[in-house]
Amino acid sequence: MKVTDMTAIPVSVPVEKAYETSLSSAPGQQSDTHDHIVVRLETDAGIPGYGEIAPKAAWPHGLTQGACTDLINDTLASTVEGRRVNRIARIVDDLEAQLSGETFPIYGIDVALHDALGKRVEVPVYELLGGPKNLRREFPLHYSIGIMEADKMAADATTAAEKGFTAFKVKVGGSDHEAELAGIEAIAEVVPDARIRIDANQGWYPEEAIRKIRELDVAADGLELVEQPVAYDSRDGLRRVREAVDPPILADESAFSPRDVADLARHEATDIINIKLAKTGGLHRGKDVATVAGAHSLTCFMGSMVELGIGAAASAHLTISTPRITYPTGVMNQYVEDTLIKNDGQWEVDGPTFTVPEIPGLGVEPDHEAIERLRVD
Ligand SMILES: [Mg+2]
Repeated sequence: MKVTDMTAIPVSVPVEKAYETSLSSAPGQQSDTHDHIVVRLETDAGIPGYGEIAPKAAWPHGLTQGACTDLINDTLASTVEGRRVNRIARIVDDLEAQLSGETFPIYGIDVALHDALGKRVEVPVYELLGGPKNLRREFPLHYSIGIMEADKMAADATTAAEKGFTAFKVKVGGSDHEAELAGIEAIAEVVPDARIRIDANQGWYPEEAIRKIRELDVAADGLELVEQPVAYDSRDGLRRVREAVDPPILADESAFSPRDVADLARHEATDIINIKLAKTGGLHRGKDVATVAGAHSLTCFMGSMVELGIGAAASAHLTISTPRITYPTGVMNQYVEDTLIKNDGQWEVDGPTFTVPEIPGLGVEPDHEAIERLRVD
């Protein structure tokens, strides 16, 4: 089965619920739409494959929606068209050689290839990736809480705890540290067994990070982990923070490739690696990242760029097939009116555990009407 056509379709999907981070609260970073890309592959067997990309221009190595769309349609399509769908590893090698570090476009293509291949051989994508790590095809979820007034954060945490959530992710690193302390304290108070993890999205300098993490650790009555406290390219800063504070450190913006993971390990800069398919360039290299992390005795966390239905499914398939991913994840959390898939009932989150449906390929049915309606080119 060969790829006959590959197209990137830019879409703009309304946001239902604001999710504020230290990056998104910066001027010009707030958006009321998800400006994503659907990657569509056609094959000579008549079996299509789909991938999704959530571009982020403000990220290290990030790209705008337009740049990412153009790269796929104008540059990468000719590398993929005519190739055998099963040769994903070779295709990814070639795309990486073409782009030198731009992983987002490769991610959408890699996932679309896995989707088409899974449908062709009639197995879910997690079977292509080694099979599920438990018989129930389940993995645990955390609940994300944005920066708000403390009483609102406590109310949000209480509602989630009533649904059974015990793990909470809170974005910190913004301009109001006192408000963040109050918010964390409020969550710990209303949910005494809460496992609270914080993500600073590179928001601090190392000395500032050490001081603030110590304070937040007390407020949380023990943080589960601290994500990306300092700048993505500061290996030494990350190590200094890691040596000075109690909670484990999770590298996100610092860790894209297998080489990044080896480099972080060499610098003793992190305890955990945040795998995001957008950073690894898809499922194939995501497996490599998990393997290299394991080889350095690091554990993994599955993150996302808050993709919609297609991208969330891809992350779920990697999570359920990768034993090294041990922490509750937020990849299924949705903040959107439209996930761009028709069978969203099978992908809906209704509690702290998610079961991956047993459907060939990614297991999603793209909603072509919605994609056309929300298309922006
Ligand atoms: Mg992060």
